[in-house]
Amino acid sequence: MLTVVPTPIGNLEDITLRAIRVLKEVAVVLAEDTRTSGNLLKHYGIETPLRAFHAHNEHAKVERIVDELSSGVPMALISDAGTPGISDPGFLLVRACVRRGVRVECLPGATAFVPALVASGLPCDAFHYEGFLPHKKGRQTRLKYLAGLDNTFVLYESPHRLLRCLDELSEHCGPDRLACVARELSKKHEEVKTASLAELKAHFSSKDVKGEIVVVVSQKPDTRSTK
Ligand code: SAM
Repeated sequence: MLTVVPTPIGNLEDITLRAIRVLKEVAVVLAEDTRTSGNLLKHYGIETPLRAFHAHNEHAKVERIVDELSSGVPMALISDAGTPGISDPGFLLVRACVRRGVRVECLPGATAFVPALVASGLPCDAFHYEGFLPHKKGRQTRLKYLAGLDNTFVLYESPHRLLRCLDELSEHCGPDRLACVARELSKKHEEVKTASLAELKAHFSSKDVKGEIVVVVSQKPDTRSTK
C-alpha cells in the first residue's frame, strides 16, 4: 500500500498523529528532498529509511516503486511541504498505483491553498485551483481564462514575481477585483491581506516581499451571489 502523507507548510505542529504513526510504520518513505525530509523526520523521532523521489526521477522510478508496492512493501510518499501531488510530485506514482491495482490512501492534512482560501473571506463554496502559472509561454492565455471564471481562483506564486503577478491580474481582471495575498501561512510572519488588486499592489510595493505566497482572486463580478 502507498500512503500519501501531508507534512507541515511551516508550523511543525501541523502534522497529524496518524501521519507520524504511518511514517514510523512503513518500510520506506519516498521524499522529494531527502535532506529536508531527514530533518523533519528526525524532529518527530522517525527513523524510517528515506528514498529520493522528485520531479527529475519521477518518470524513471515509478514502475519499479509500483513493483515493490505490489510485492507488499508498504511505503509513504511525502513532499518538502504540504500535500504531495498538489503542485508537487505524486500524481504519476498515484496514477500508476491506481492503474495497477495497488491500494493508495491519502491522509488528510496540511496544504497551503485551503487556509489561504478560507482566511481570504472570498467565496469558497466553489473554487478553481490553478497552482503555479507558467512563467512565460501560455501565461497570458491562462490569465485570460482565469479572469473570466465564475469561481474564486487560487494561484501559488513566488515572492519575487508577486508584483508582476498582481499587475497582470489587474490587467486581466481589472484593478478593482477583490483578491487576497496569503503569505507565510502558519509561520511567525504570517500575513493575510484581502483588498482590491490595486490596493494589494500598493501595499506590497512598499516593502520587500519575502516568503511563500498564495494568491486568491474572487470570481468575475456579478456572476454569482456571495450567499
Ligand atoms: N504541496 C504543497 C501544498 O500542499 O500546498 C505546495 C508545494 S509548492 C512546491 C510550494 C508553494 O506552495 C509555495 O511557492 C507557495 O506558493 C505555497 N506555499 C507553501 N507553503 C506556504 C506557506 N506557508 N504560506 C503560503 N504559501 C505557501
